[in-house]
Amino acid sequence: MKVSKLFTKTIRETPADEEAINAQFLMRGGFVFKNSAGVYSMLPLGLRVLQKIANIIREEMNLIGGQEMFMPTLVEKKYMEPTNRWDLEVGYFAKAKSEKEASFVLGWSHEEVLTSIATKYVNSYKDLPFSAYQIQNKFRHEARAKSGLLRGREFMMKDLYSFHASQEDLDDYYEKAREAYYKVFKRCGLDAIYTVAAGGVFTEKFTHEFQVAAEVGEDTIYVCSECKYAENKEITKLADGNSCPKCSGKVKETQSIEVGNIFDNGTRYSEALGLYFMDENGNKKPVVMGAYGIGLGRVMATVIEVSHDDRGIIWPASIAPFKVHLISLGKNTEAEKVYNELHESGVEVIYDDREDKSAGEKFADADLIGCPLRLVVSAKMSEDEIEIKKRSEKEVSVIKRSEFAKHLKF
Ligand code: ATP
Ligand code: MG
Repeated sequence: MKVSKLFTKTIRETPADEEAINAQFLMRGGFVFKNSAGVYSMLPLGLRVLQKIANIIREEMNLIGGQEMFMPTLVEKKYMEPTNRWDLEVGYFAKAKSEKEASFVLGWSHEEVLTSIATKYVNSYKDLPFSAYQIQNKFRHEARAKSGLLRGREFMMKDLYSFHASQEDLDDYYEKAREAYYKVFKRCGLDAIYTVAAGGVFTEKFTHEFQVAAEVGEDTIYVCSECKYAENKEITKLADGNSCPKCSGKVKETQSIEVGNIFDNGTRYSEALGLYFMDENGNKKPVVMGAYGIGLGRVMATVIEVSHDDRGIIWPASIAPFKVHLISLGKNTEAEKVYNELHESGVEVIYDDREDKSAGEKFADADLIGCPLRLVVSAKMSEDEIEIKKRSEKEVSVIKRSEFAKHLKF
């Protein structure tokens, strides 16, 4: 990708209406465009990051047997009424063309839709277990939408649902999902803390959240410094400095961001929507269900909150929009050659080929956009030299061009 061809541009000024660091850098870097409060467009750079996060999630969900699908955004009243979730505050209602009364809500969660679909395919215990997921935009009325991409009113979510013949089978799968979630977050460069939290809408049981320690986080959790056992403030009796309920460590109060969570929904949805199966003895039973969510935009924003400096984003290589940010200084044909070589060998590279920008401006943009490796080819260098710098380090070195391939292993 040549910067001269990119239709978006970086912005120097901090946007006046965004307090959150993630939104400031994402908007300044040309990753996202704010259309309305809590509603963002993904621009070409932003979409590249989001798609990398999506692919990491896909790989890990597929490994635990998740089958990818895609459900409608328009969710009809008939799905939500049986679970009493039709007229909840959270929903944006779609206006019907000829009726005063809305009959669709913009999907904010899809338990009901998939449970209803499953009623057509599940008859016996032999049809279980299975799990299916989608990556799709959700729509929610959010009271406060000032955390940038951390809390959108329209946001992309991966929602997986699992269906089981017994509680034990769900419990097993829940553990698998937990491991898969750790892997997803680790691969995205995040250290997630598995946290016991309150039940969701209509759940009396506990749920589990994956929390990332960050000052801007809206959640407060108590984390053991030894075993990392954690409880959310909303359910805990723990206070800062208390003994851990699981080991001899002490818990610490920490602000955090919930990047994902997993729910044991039991038979609530299956009973409400008529999802039953025949067990081995011919008894009719409701299917036991789990639900597992990850916010993709929230993951992207969280990475920025925990990995930036005053000049911009520091992406982990796994989700960076490009691995290499190549800059050409002064009039030279060598940079173009390097670009073509990288491009041909399949390295994802953004090439700042602009002739009307100063070195200072190009360096500032590279820091703002945050790709892991910066390469500079200048008219002043001898033909076989190239300057190399990691975004996460200060050190700049000039190396032989023939040697830089080994720096491209991520
Ligand atoms: P929160 O307590 O932060 O509102 P939630 O409990 O409503 O989250 P879920 O409904 O379980 O979240 O959604 C699953 C995941 O989707 C969350 O863990 C989070 O990563 C993401 N998510 C939820 N709401 C938003 C939002 N408004 N904007 C961006 N991501 C969100
Ligand atoms: Mg919520």
